[in-house]
Amino acid sequence: MTRHAEIAGAGFSGLTMAAALAQRGWSVRVHERSPEVRAFGAGIWTWENGVRALANIRAADDAFADCNPPPRYLERDAEQRIIRSLPFPPPHSDSGVRMFCVTRQRLLMAIHGAATRAGVDVATGSEVVSARPEGELETADGKTFRADLVVGADGVNSKVRDSLGLLRSRRTHADGAIRVLVPHEGGYGDTEEGKLLRSWWNGRRRLLYTPCTSDVFYLCFTGRVRDGQASRVPLHKESWIRHFPFMESMIDRVGDEQRYDVFETVESRHWRVGRAAVIGDAGHAMVPGLGQGCGMAICNALSLASHLVDHRDVERALTEWETRWRPVTEHAQLWSRISWPLTQIPVGAARWAFKTPVFHDWVAIQRRKPSHVVPHGSENDARWFPRNAAGDPSAPPRAD
Ligand SMILES: Cc1cc2nc3c(=O)[nH]c(=O)nc-3n(C[C@H](O)[C@H](O)[C@H](O)COP(=O)(O)OP(=O)(O)OC[C@H]3O[C@@H](n4cnc5c(N)ncnc54)[C@H](O)[C@@H]3O)c2cc1C
Repeated sequence: MTRHAEIAGAGFSGLTMAAALAQRGWSVRVHERSPEVRAFGAGIWTWENGVRALANIRAADDAFADCNPPPRYLERDAEQRIIRSLPFPPPHSDSGVRMFCVTRQRLLMAIHGAATRAGVDVATGSEVVSARPEGELETADGKTFRADLVVGADGVNSKVRDSLGLLRSRRTHADGAIRVLVPHEGGYGDTEEGKLLRSWWNGRRRLLYTPCTSDVFYLCFTGRVRDGQASRVPLHKESWIRHFPFMESMIDRVGDEQRYDVFETVESRHWRVGRAAVIGDAGHAMVPGLGQGCGMAICNALSLASHLVDHRDVERALTEWETRWRPVTEHAQLWSRISWPLTQIPVGAARWAFKTPVFHDWVAIQRRKPSHVVPHGSENDARWFPRNAAGDPSAPPRAD
């Protein structure tokens, strides 16, 4: 008999969960409170683990088709002196941890496409207000939906998590970010410099430039909540240009639609109770120190769908899923939290710290661990490659 799932939230984790379940024979409905499935205008990094999960649900081709992954990450101080320089393996490389960056909307639509092709029903304008461990979701219009499995993928303010009593702690941090997409001008996106991932440090402020496509790049302005000019929206352009004068022409082109998001960490007592589970930011929001919040969310979603193939008994599958994947996710949360202050120390100390063997070896291994995660169900999958090697549109398609 076909099993049925009701999911709250059509974000990255909810739609990945939906696609993975539907591809494994479940009937799935996703409730999205917004009138349409939409991500806000920013970029998002996806590491090897996330790429693997997306390839498994057949969303990677659509997500990264015209992506130009950066060959290198450069961190510089306010005088443009290099703090550290880290190479990335090219996208067609057979080994190593690759990183792809696309717009959030593109990634979300790729996952949405995979979900709808698998027959998922996405109900927009449907706000979930609570869930019950017996397998029920209740929506704001008073309707109740029963299922073999209910999932809260409704983000950091999750009503599903809170109604199930799963929240252990929720912590807001001292920093936050304004994230925007900016159009390239004069073919800059296709230049060697335009393809580099770069960040600049000045005091407590950071400015991150991430190439997305040849048309747009992603800027992330990070600053303390209590730094009124750094956290102000609309962006306080004069103040940011004062800190990073060499970025003036790009900062000037930032549009009016912005938001400042304070970093948060969510810890759950459990990820599941009865026939209900929470995934993504609802269960384990993290500081973006590793750029792994979404990556871990989509890996966990795929793993859960695969544990549900191993066991027809939903409660047993949920228990096994949490036991196996929670420690990995908590490692990512911990190292995200440690990594963020590490990039907040004074430039001189950072330059010294990044060169010490302990940082190079042990810390780097800890930070990279989440990228090596192989979500359950994808163990036998071949490594995914973009159709055009190195994101080069002139390169011939791979024979795959
Ligand atoms: C500054 C910053 C940079 C980041 N950069 C990266 C990065 O580069 N790489 C990375 O992997 N992660 C990154 N993250 C983390 C990443 O954004 C999140 O982990 C990811 O968005 C979580 O996805 P989600 O689907 O769980 O939640 P969300 O993306 O928040 O989606 C939740 C969905 O549920 C809907 N919803 C909410 N409430 C309800 C309700 N009651 N009923 C129905 N629907 C509801 C919402 O409208 C939304 O569509 C970053 C985070 C920050 C703050």
